[in-house]
Amino acid sequence: AADALARLYATLNDEQRAVVDAPADLPLQVIAGAGTGKTNTLVHRVIRLIERGVAPDAIMLLTFSRRAAEEMRGRVMRLLASAGMPEIRLDWAGTFHATGAQLLRDYAGVIGLSPNFTIADRDDSADLLGLLRHELGLDETAQRFPTRQTCLAIYSRVVNTGAALQAVVAEHFPWCAGWEVQLKRLFANYVAAKQADQVLDYDDLLLIWERMLDVPLIADDLRARFSHVLVDEYQDTNRLQASLLFAMRPHGQGLTVVGDDAQSIYAFRGAEAANMFEFVEQCTPAATVLTLTRNYRSSAPLLAASNAVIHEAARRHPKTLWTTRADGEAPSLVSLADETAQADYVSLQALARREGGARLRDQAILFRTGTHSAALEVALGARRIPFRKFGGLKFLDAAHVRDLLAILRFAQNPRERVAGFRVLQLLPGVGAATAAQTLAAITTALGSAVAPPRGFRLPEPKRALAHWDALADLLAALAQPVEPVGAQVERALAWYEPWLAARFDDAAIRIEDLHALARIAHTYPSRERFLAELTLDPPDAVSDQAADPMLDDDYLILSTIHSAKGREWRHVTLLNAVDGCLPADMATRNASELEEERRLLYVAMTRARETLEIVLPLRFHVHQQAAGGDRHVFAQRTRFIPPKLLSLFDSRAWPSAAPSETGRQALAALRVDIAAKLRSMWD
Ligand code: ATP
Ligand code: MG
Repeated sequence: AADALARLYATLNDEQRAVVDAPADLPLQVIAGAGTGKTNTLVHRVIRLIERGVAPDAIMLLTFSRRAAEEMRGRVMRLLASAGMPEIRLDWAGTFHATGAQLLRDYAGVIGLSPNFTIADRDDSADLLGLLRHELGLDETAQRFPTRQTCLAIYSRVVNTGAALQAVVAEHFPWCAGWEVQLKRLFANYVAAKQADQVLDYDDLLLIWERMLDVPLIADDLRARFSHVLVDEYQDTNRLQASLLFAMRPHGQGLTVVGDDAQSIYAFRGAEAANMFEFVEQCTPAATVLTLTRNYRSSAPLLAASNAVIHEAARRHPKTLWTTRADGEAPSLVSLADETAQADYVSLQALARREGGARLRDQAILFRTGTHSAALEVALGARRIPFRKFGGLKFLDAAHVRDLLAILRFAQNPRERVAGFRVLQLLPGVGAATAAQTLAAITTALGSAVAPPRGFRLPEPKRALAHWDALADLLAALAQPVEPVGAQVERALAWYEPWLAARFDDAAIRIEDLHALARIAHTYPSRERFLAELTLDPPDAVSDQAADPMLDDDYLILSTIHSAKGREWRHVTLLNAVDGCLPADMATRNASELEEERRLLYVAMTRARETLEIVLPLRFHVHQQAAGGDRHVFAQRTRFIPPKLLSLFDSRAWPSAAPSETGRQALAALRVDIAAKLRSMWD
């Protein structure tokens, strides 16, 4: 075993070994750039601790995401197994939240918590706030009281940063000013309701863990149990997490943190990159700070470009990275006509790389926000390219997107009961039973008409009756369309929007999605083509929640930049590298928001090992209410790649092919009685 461990150790470079060998009981901080092996070295430090006789369950290994935690735990155990120690388990490797949950179960009896407590996810928490807000009579839209999601965001920020409610509202939620008193009452009720129901939200998992450490007996017990705490991605911890860590390991004794300030991308959720810079002084004796400078991940041209991008940043810890991988292609900047051309190009490139021997899962397509991949998801579905999406719901699975498509399908075919069933239930008071009854009545009333009649009597309920004619008018207008399909989607959206606004607190985001759907529709020649391509189930697509796909499964990776943190792929493509998308429009108000956007670009670029493509759709279709509808706008390359950096990139343009309609004319004349053929199978 000793030999095997020595061989593992020999794979590390000198700087990495210094980290592994630093005194185990003293505070240690590693600040190093992307791809220098921070995570890898942390894994080896854990192994070294175990080698020195520290009990595995006295080691707490914390990181940001579940996937990253699983990967680290897996690596430690695999490496130990390869060194002849297969029996060792690392039970305390997890996210901050999961670890908190595990600890709270252990101490539930002591702190008066039911051991059967349940954990509310963010949606559950927002729902509970919505309910309590209603009880307080604060939900009149006219009052403009913050939405339940905003309430939760304010609450969470107060808890995680330790700042006062007043200050949080003033600084981050200025549009909620004036509601502080009511918010305070709401939050008091929220805490009481959670306690009565024995429910903990995500923030409680950290907050109670930290408060528990105020109790000397519990603190002594925890400190005795966990002699060593190691943290990856320290740049994204918030105040509460930092204070927890120092309570677990007073003065930083036995605490190791690693991170990269240039990759701090969670300030919007209250993370404090300042934790990184204050770490040294918070420790006694002062922490040792080590760095790693050799990048193992990316080829030299990729490293040069990402270094150049981050060097433009205002404030950063100076770092120089080097690599021996001198070969490799420069990153490319590919300009395309629009988002549809972008989606086509990216799908074709993925297929081409697969032809060239790369698996789909060696390729990742990254984007700033979950909705940016909408057009790409449609294009991948049409080409039967399986993909898996991280961060954000799959576009075509979202309820509101399905609602809108159902309206179009129902208009196209009022006999389609699946779509009709869905659409009718959008009317107030109409449930499944009424919808089914109504559909039957509509079919009878239809006769040979192409749209359900105006003035049609809904069997039930009175409330919906008042809204029927508006729906009938919409369906009639859509039934024999003269307008292009994009305009049809807009028309359906105009009808649907008020329902959406009434039903969902986050209606604004959903409406944004539907405008994205309209943009996609604008690129289709007909409604039939549009519906056919979008309503086909994207085949073989594995959802994020699904169990680990089998080994021989191959799928393209789609991910938000946030969800790509800490990971790497041979080939990386970044979508929508234009101003307004990256930096996002809403994040250009001040310098610190802009800097976070720049770091996002850096994180995206540093995920690539062999090739990096940065794609720019030059024309955007935007919906502008004020300007009286839709228009095309010209987009600019992201400001984070200014002209002086262009020499580091390989710039090219990709022309999109004109769509062809082969054989359509001839087919139009053909008539085949397929229904008879099908029936004859059973004669
Ligand atoms: P990020 O900042 O993105 O989180 P990181 O600093 O954590 O990156 P790792 O993910 O640990 O870097 O390592 C990057 C790549 O370099 C991985 O593929 C890893 O296996 C490889 N690597 C790290 N150290 C070595 C080494 N000593 N020898 C060979 N490969 C290494
Ligand atoms: Mg890492």
